[in-house]
Amino acid sequence: MEVRRLGVVGAGQMGSGIAEVAAAVGLQVVMRDLTQEALEKGRARITGDLSRRLQKGKITSQEMEEILSRLKTTCYLEELRECDFVIEAATESPLIKEKLFRELEATVAPETVLATNTSSISITRIASFTTTPQRVIGMHFFNPVPVMKLVEVVRGLHTSEAVFTATWELTQRLGKTPVEARDMPGFISSRLIFNYMNEGLWALYEGLGTAEQIDTIMRMGANHPMGPLELADFVGLDTVLSVMRVLQEAFGDKYRPSPLLVQLVQAGRLGVKTGKGIYEHGGKP
Ligand code: NAD
Repeated sequence: MEVRRLGVVGAGQMGSGIAEVAAAVGLQVVMRDLTQEALEKGRARITGDLSRRLQKGKITSQEMEEILSRLKTTCYLEELRECDFVIEAATESPLIKEKLFRELEATVAPETVLATNTSSISITRIASFTTTPQRVIGMHFFNPVPVMKLVEVVRGLHTSEAVFTATWELTQRLGKTPVEARDMPGFISSRLIFNYMNEGLWALYEGLGTAEQIDTIMRMGANHPMGPLELADFVGLDTVLSVMRVLQEAFGDKYRPSPLLVQLVQAGRLGVKTGKGIYEHGGKP
């Protein structure tokens, strides 16, 4: 199956990154978010990244123009009707994804693949929100999408072989490396990575060190490119909390979110995307 028109749902950090990479390899992309403001923010993120690539000589100004011309943004899900493949990258919440997958099923053609970029929710569970679970699949990108090469591909219990093959091929066409993981909440990556971030938040909550000390120890002592707290701010604390709740519900208290994480999210301190999280980020998103 050759994908020509890709729908991306969500214009946040991940959706905009996926849209950029897809438009860069020649796909027509329609990106949907709920508000014009969210779409403008997503487009600005894409333009900013392409401008950096232009400055570094990785693309020409004509290529940049062509990439942007392949990207359409909309608040209306109906505009994804013509898409043969949709990647959902909306807020990490089972309720939001449930509503969205019901709407998507009612909007796009019956053979359109419905992929989700969820970090934690089981693909079989998301597929159960539809009556066509054979076309639902996990396509888990990493942040920032234009830089990170891995895509974790996850089949639900009903995912068809044809949908799996189409997803695998699309991943490669986007210049990424697919690796398969079995369907369980958090798959492989999030079970390990989010526990790392949450444990860092527990360490901070328990006063084992300052945020800088915790991050420096993990960066220098374990050779991680980012400490757990800077990584959590980068990913988004709302996403970290939502993932921990899904993991806790599935596997128990080993994954209990740190009370400090809960409090920061309640305060609206979500990390880099709101300008303030565990750290201050210059007060701007
Ligand atoms: P984000 O908060 O940056 O963006 C989410 C966007 O979804 C927002 O713009 C929001 O307005 C939009 N949205 C909410 N409901 C919608 C709907 N019904 N239709 C269209 N748009 C809707 O979040 P993000 O970091 O981009 O994460 C998005 C998804 O990607 C989540 O499922 C998350 O778990 C997953 N993910 C995130 C990371 C990461 O590092 N942040 C990595 C891999 C996967």
